[in-house]
Order: sequence, then C-alpha cells, then structure tokens
Amino acid sequence: MRCVWTIGIAIIPLCCILAVPLLDLAEITANDGDTSTSVDDTQEITIGDVIINAHRNAISNPNMKWPGGIVPYTISPLYSMDIQNDIVAAMRQLEQDVNDVVRVCVKFRPRTNESNYIRIYPGNGCRAAIGMQNRGRQDISIGRGCEARGVILHELIHVLGFWHEHNRADRDTYININLTNIRDNTKLDFRQVSSAMLNTLNTPYDLGSIMHYGPYTNAIDKTIPVITPKPGKAVGIQLGQRMALSTWDVVRIQRWYGCTENASHITRTYLTDSLARCDFASSMCNLTHDTTSEFRWTVMEGSSGAGPRAGNTNGADSFLVAKETDNNGTARILTPFFNVGAICVNFFVFQRGPFSYLDVMASGPIIAPVVVQSFQGNNANEWLPVHVDINAPVGAAFQITFEAHLSSGDVAIDDLNIYKGRCI
Ligand SMILES: [Zn+2]
Repeated sequence: MRCVWTIGIAIIPLCCILAVPLLDLAEITANDGDTSTSVDDTQEITIGDVIINAHRNAISNPNMKWPGGIVPYTISPLYSMDIQNDIVAAMRQLEQDVNDVVRVCVKFRPRTNESNYIRIYPGNGCRAAIGMQNRGRQDISIGRGCEARGVILHELIHVLGFWHEHNRADRDTYININLTNIRDNTKLDFRQVSSAMLNTLNTPYDLGSIMHYGPYTNAIDKTIPVITPKPGKAVGIQLGQRMALSTWDVVRIQRWYGCTENASHITRTYLTDSLARCDFASSMCNLTHDTTSEFRWTVMEGSSGAGPRAGNTNGADSFLVAKETDNNGTARILTPFFNVGAICVNFFVFQRGPFSYLDVMASGPIIAPVVVQSFQGNNANEWLPVHVDINAPVGAAFQITFEAHLSSGDVAIDDLNIYKGRCI
C-alpha cells in the first residue's frame, strides 16, 4: 500500500502583538475618557491588540454596539483564498456559538453600502478596536501568524465590544501579575479598567475566556510568567486558550446584544474531535514511554534547570520534559494509534538551541517512520504554540512519536491536543 502524506506546520503567536506608541499610563488613562485629551481625534491608541479611539468609551457605551448585532465587513483581497475562507469560517463559528434558531443575535455580513463597517486586512499583528467606533471604516488587522481560528475569534469579539478579561477591575482576586517582567510600553495591556468603562455584565471573572491573556504574553523573560492564577483559581484551565469561546464568552455576547442566553451550542471541535489530549497536570494521560529509547521524559513542576521554569497551561503548573542531563541520548513518548486520516497535532514546545532538539514523527505497522516536524536551533527560551497538519490515508493506522535528542538544553512540551481534521 502506498501512503500519501501531506504535512503542514504553523507556529502561531498566542499573544497579541504590540504595535504602536510609547505612552505612559497616566497619559493613556486620561485619553481613554470621553473628553479632555491632547490626542488628535483621529488618532488611535493601541493597547496590545486593542485599538482604542481616544475620544470614545468602550463596552459600557451602548452606542458602540453594532445595530441589530449586524457587523458589515470587507476582507482584503491580499489574503489567499484559504485565509479568506478561514476568516469567514471563524465568523460562522462565532454566530453558531451565539445565535439560536429563532433569532439572530450577531451576524457578520458582507458590506453593501453601510457607513460603519470593518475591513479585515493583513496588517502588522492581530489588532481590533473595541466595539463599533461610528466613524465609518474600522480596520481589523489579522496579520501573518494571526490566522488560527482562535485568534480570529478573539479579534472578532473585540469588534463586538469586549475588552480583555484580565483588564477587569476585579482581576486581582483571581490572578497575580508580575509587573517586573513587562516592558514599560506594554504595561498598559495589564491595567485595570474601571467598571464605568468595562461592563462585566454581572458575569464572573473567567480565567478560561478566549479574551484572557496567557501566562507569558508580553513577558520580557519568556521563561517567567507574567500572569499566574491565585491558588486554586485555574484548576484544569488553560490560561490564554485560543481554542473556543468559553461559556461566559458566549453569554456575555448574548447579554450585551439582548439575546436569549444559551451556551449549549458552542463549537468545541478541539474537544469533540479530540483523539489524545494532555496538560500533564500530574500524569502522561494515554501517552506511553518507548522502552527502547535511552532515557525517559518526565512530568515535573517548577524549573527544569535548562528549560522552562513553569508549565504553559497557567504558568504555575507541570509539564513534560526531557532533560539535558541525559546527554547524547534520546527519549521518546508515543501516542495511541489513529486511523482516521487527517489529524492536527497541536501542542506547545519549549526548546532552546542549538544543541538539543525535538522530532515529531509518524509511523505505523505499514508506514515507515517519517519526521513530520523537527524543532531545532534557537527558539528563544519560550513556550511556542505549534499546529502540525498530518494528512494520512484513511484507515492507515499510525501513531505520533515525540523524540527528544538531548545535548545542551532541555526539551519540553505541554498542552498537547491531537484532533481529527485539519488544524484550525
Ligand atoms: Zn485582544
């Protein structure tokens, strides 16, 4: 039997990319009010991936809702058809999550002649203004590296009128923020926004929101988390997840737009189509050691010595690591066998170069081992999200092997999720 494999990979930023200006906290706080500002009316202030019009309020202002929940849009032809389709698919998913069969709550519709609309274009990073700005066209940047479904969903929720979750005034009850590990020009991303500007809609703080930053977003030293949950607050929750809307993400949209509140139809293919999933909270789930390899991966918490100082899941948790002290050896872990055709292998990798490296391999009873992706060189000492598409023939059984080649530097992985279909 001849097997045809197609392999694709994307390394996608979890966080949002800071674009513009160097303003101090006092200045921008003043500018975010309704009046009195030295900033020109047309000037935009960017906080992380959020564009804030200097003269307008945010979600607490009902004038910034899209009328009838309808968001007219255009998509730049500079995108490939695949990416254009991905953007529209994200819109359809968000609608599916939020709308009920009786009434449309929110709808993204191609623009005809509406004066207020969004233009989605491949700009610098991933950025969106909060809510309808009522100034005609407003640009939403879905730049290179921002094309994953969860990142697009995140930006579309900004468009509907929502801030980042960790900007809430009550956030200090749930998270710690290490301000010493943030550059001055990104400190604004972590400010608390008063309830006058950020209406929580009587919903609880949600560490699982798709609008929450991850532990390492905007960190100077990417081995040290900026955001960590208070003890017991994020059990089983991946902070900064960009996989799907949370229940409260959906309810907030429905509440803000005055719709029926029902979060029972959220699309969670990463769960429903999952074949293997592990956050290495304490075990290796259904992964197994390859007993023929020289060394073993281990689940650990805290600093590994020559690798992460904490896990990716919430910055205070465990991860799976192969250690440099097993120098000149290999350590392999194996997934169960799959025979469903195309799969996505999604995980976070921590690998610093240039000597130790990680190979992700596929192999089966009738399929010779093939390296589908190798992580080598200097990956800058940080957790990087990875999506690997493997398009195997349906019915051909194969398993994935994570093979660490150990020299100088540890190799670690966390938050593995293998699911049916192509990566989204
Ligand atoms: Zn954002």
